[in-house]
Amino acid sequence: MKIQSVDCMIIDSGDPCKGRNSWHPVIVKVNTDEGISGFGEVGVAYGRGYRAGFSMIQDFAEVIIGEDPMKNEKIWEKLYRTTFWGLGGGTIISAGMSAIDIALWDIKGKALGLPVYQLMGGKTNEKLRAYASQIQFGWGPEHVVPERDMMIRPEDYATVTKKVMEEGYTCVKVDPLALSRQEPDGKGEWKTRGVLSDRELSTAYDRVAAIRETGGKDMDIIIELHSYTDTISSVQLGQRLEELNIFYYEEPVHPLNPKNMLEVHRSLKMPIASGERIYGRTGFREFLEDRSLQVVQPDICLCGGLTEAKKICDMANTYDCAAQIHVCGSPISKAAALQIEAVLPNFLIHEHHGWALHPDCRNTCLYDYQPENGYYEVPDKPGIGQELRPEVMEKAVKVTIK
Ligand code: MG
Repeated sequence: MKIQSVDCMIIDSGDPCKGRNSWHPVIVKVNTDEGISGFGEVGVAYGRGYRAGFSMIQDFAEVIIGEDPMKNEKIWEKLYRTTFWGLGGGTIISAGMSAIDIALWDIKGKALGLPVYQLMGGKTNEKLRAYASQIQFGWGPEHVVPERDMMIRPEDYATVTKKVMEEGYTCVKVDPLALSRQEPDGKGEWKTRGVLSDRELSTAYDRVAAIRETGGKDMDIIIELHSYTDTISSVQLGQRLEELNIFYYEEPVHPLNPKNMLEVHRSLKMPIASGERIYGRTGFREFLEDRSLQVVQPDICLCGGLTEAKKICDMANTYDCAAQIHVCGSPISKAAALQIEAVLPNFLIHEHHGWALHPDCRNTCLYDYQPENGYYEVPDKPGIGQELRPEVMEKAVKVTIK
């Protein structure tokens, strides 16, 4: 089998955020001379960078035409070693490599008639516990639409906790500082870095306390900080939140600054998590060697694909470090994440991001996988078990490399 062409696509997302915070999935479809095609995703659907990701996969596509798609390890090395910038990694390079790698695993699974989890070692986890992620945006199809009321008061956090519990979740993730930067009453400046005021700390504490009170002692609460905080502010906040029994504390400092992460780890009595902006094994190495992370969160569509994510998670396992795959893209990224999480012995929990509830996300692909009662079943279809809808591909901005 040979790779014949590669379709590089920007999906028409309908701009659900009205331009304020773009959401543009970039998808690659690798086509072979035997009629089998595989899908992969460039992990920059959110934030800024999708046009760069779209160009990156076109450049990498030229490198893989004519290769045997079953040799994903060889192709990964070729992209890494022979493209000059491959060794440098970073967001866009790694995202481009990831998209192609996922598509190759999809092709391999389809060619052999097996789901990817069977090819990676089989199921260690029969079903996957999921958490409702980013509940500071609310929870439901209206998620992240900026016109809706912001979650300002502690009672708003109690209400959304009740809602996710009714759906069967026993774990939530919340950023208690992110949206609060937009002060409803205009009193004072809202800061997230440097020394925080008691008002800022108390506001964040009260929100998390409302979740704890509503969820009870069996609710697991993940604190997300998106690296908006720094060493000082994240330690201050963490020390205030410790008594609320935090499940883990995510991206408290700059994601590529291991010494600061270690300082936070040593200052707090709670596990520290990071990984969605750490790339490849070399990126994770120092965080593992200095034991600053207790939970790694590689994004399959950013860290180097399924091939690299498996190695990162296995490497983490030797340091008794748990793994949670970061997921915040289209249903293609979701499907790839489910496949590898089924396999990982150190799998902790699956991230069900609010984006996954949005109709603009759910309508892009053939299958709409959603958790039931807080748990995911892993799809048994060959490959990653997900494909773009034909009408979505029709409408996409598309460049084909042959
Ligand atoms: Mg995160």
